[in-house]
Amino acid sequence: MNTPFNNEELWQSVLAQIQFNISRPNFATWFHNTKVISNKNGEVLVGVPNLFSKEWLGGKYQSLILKILRSLDNNIRLVEFTVKSDNITNADLTPKKELLMATSLANSQMPFLDLKVDPKTNLNPRYTFENFIIGSFNELAHAAAWATTEKPGTAYNPLFIYGGVGLGKTHLLQATGNRANSIFPDKKIKYTTAERFISKIVEAIKNRTIEDLKQKAAKTDILIIDDVQFFAGKEKTQEEFFHIFNTLYQNQKQIILSSDRPPSAIPALADRLRSRFEGGMIADIGSPDIETRIAILKTKCEEKEATVAEEILNYIASNIQRNIREMEGALTRLIVCQKINQKEPSLIDAKKLLRNFIFSPKKTTSFKQILNVVASFYDLSPNDVLQTTRRQEIVKPRQIAMYLMRNELQESYPSIGRKFQGKDHTTAIYACEKITRQLEEDGILATELNLIKQRLYGELDVSKTSET
Ligand code: ADP
Ligand code: MG
Repeated sequence: MNTPFNNEELWQSVLAQIQFNISRPNFATWFHNTKVISNKNGEVLVGVPNLFSKEWLGGKYQSLILKILRSLDNNIRLVEFTVKSDNITNADLTPKKELLMATSLANSQMPFLDLKVDPKTNLNPRYTFENFIIGSFNELAHAAAWATTEKPGTAYNPLFIYGGVGLGKTHLLQATGNRANSIFPDKKIKYTTAERFISKIVEAIKNRTIEDLKQKAAKTDILIIDDVQFFAGKEKTQEEFFHIFNTLYQNQKQIILSSDRPPSAIPALADRLRSRFEGGMIADIGSPDIETRIAILKTKCEEKEATVAEEILNYIASNIQRNIREMEGALTRLIVCQKINQKEPSLIDAKKLLRNFIFSPKKTTSFKQILNVVASFYDLSPNDVLQTTRRQEIVKPRQIAMYLMRNELQESYPSIGRKFQGKDHTTAIYACEKITRQLEEDGILATELNLIKQRLYGELDVSKTSET
């Protein structure tokens, strides 16, 4: 049966309704430059401009979007998000021409890399152990992954790797699959993302082919599933996966999983599955130190066959600290510009070019701005954030606001306490330490904080928009 809307109409109807459900700044941030790319077999694929939007929409708004989609067309069962950044229409950012060129060029190269994915294994040969840099932050994960390629199914089973966004989980998983594939060409190796896996299960249940799917899965020798935090709350998938897991495990087939958090922190995960995840080897990936970040940039330069001055690499590595993917994005932008202009940029050029990636500490903000921006980011009013309450949806934004006052305004702890309804200075210390600690392990929080800072410093000037 055909849907009554074409893609454009469908998405416009969704946007029209979403506007009523969330604040304007959030709407502007997350839904700008989005569109429905396809709507087939009950699966709607939404293109979004960047990874942040993808993660945010997938995490926070997926169920709302699905609900609205289903109210428009009840054949729709699933909504997925994919990064697709053609037709940039973002007038707020008005990037310079050269930047725009660099961005679109860089983006146009992405699908290239994806094209090489081996349809049999879903592995991308770009990810190897050779171009994976090891440091103390990831050496355990690396060693465990390597060991599974030597003796699949016996060394560590399952191998569960977790770490924040953009720190190399996918790279490591795929490198493992690629190496195993070259050592054991006869073994059946499958890489999939949890999202894809879920949609396969949903589809199979609908088409009553779930037994076939399970039988097929049972024939896999090495099953790699990326980002299993998305299994959260997907009861049916968890149930089916539990059986697949057991069959593979009993037959000594290797299972490798990744997640942005440890099994114990994945919400709505069935206990029996959680204990399976915890039953093998768990290894985390942390944040690389500066030397490692520079080493990573150097390998990326080699891969891209570009020479970038040492001082520029240093500049990137010392200013983009959280996330390797972001750092690589900055480097790619720089290299593309270099290729267009056919000359190496100076450090000054590089700084200009990377403005969007790096927050200048010289720009100023204020208590009021921090309060407004944090509140609007979390769909609250400034007064909500100031409230004395233990409600989790308020506590976190409040702690983030305190953290920003400390780190962006260098306010004293007693002064922060006073501004938050005369709280004691120890409350402010506790908040700042807690956020600092969480930033170490929680990639999503780091992303949120980055976005909040972007708003604070006017790259996306929505702070003035009033809340309703
Ligand atoms: P995650 O899956 O954890 O979000 P990815 O594996 O996608 O992160 O890594 C993001 C980018 O950083 C990729 O381009 C990847 O090649 C690169 N990267 C991550 N870790 C390393 C590393 N240790 N050495 C080299 N490149 C890395
Ligand atoms: Mg990944």
